[in-house]
Amino acid sequence: MEKANGKDVSLQELRDRLAEFAEVRGWDQYHSPRNLLLALVGEVGELSEIFQWKGEVARGLPNWSSDDKEHLEEELSDVLLYLIRLADVCGLDLGQAALTKMVKNASKYPIGNKKSST
Ligand SMILES: [Mg+2]
Repeated sequence: MEKANGKDVSLQELRDRLAEFAEVRGWDQYHSPRNLLLALVGEVGELSEIFQWKGEVARGLPNWSSDDKEHLEEELSDVLLYLIRLADVCGLDLGQAALTKMVKNASKYPIGNKKSST
C-alpha cells in the first residue's frame, strides 16, 4: 500500500483534511460530539483488541509481523483522527490544549517525583 508523506504533519492539517473528508461525503450531519465520542471509544476498543491476550509486549514490537504493525498503525490512526475531529466539532484547539495540559502536568509532577499519573 502506498504510504502518504507524513513528514511534519500537523494537527491542523489533519483537522482540515478530516473536515473536508466529512463535508464532501455529507457526513457533517452525523458528526455530533456525542457520535464522534462513541466512534472514538469504538476505535479504542479495536486498538485494545490488538494487544488483547498477547501478554506484555516489548517496546518496538520486535516480534510482531509487518501485518500486525500495519494493523496497529491503522487503529492508532483511527483513534487519533476521531480525537482530532471531536475536538474540532467542539470548537477546541487540541494542539494548544495538549501543550497547556503538559505545562500543568509538569507543574503537578515536578522532576524527581517518581509517581506518574495524568
Ligand atoms: Mg478501526
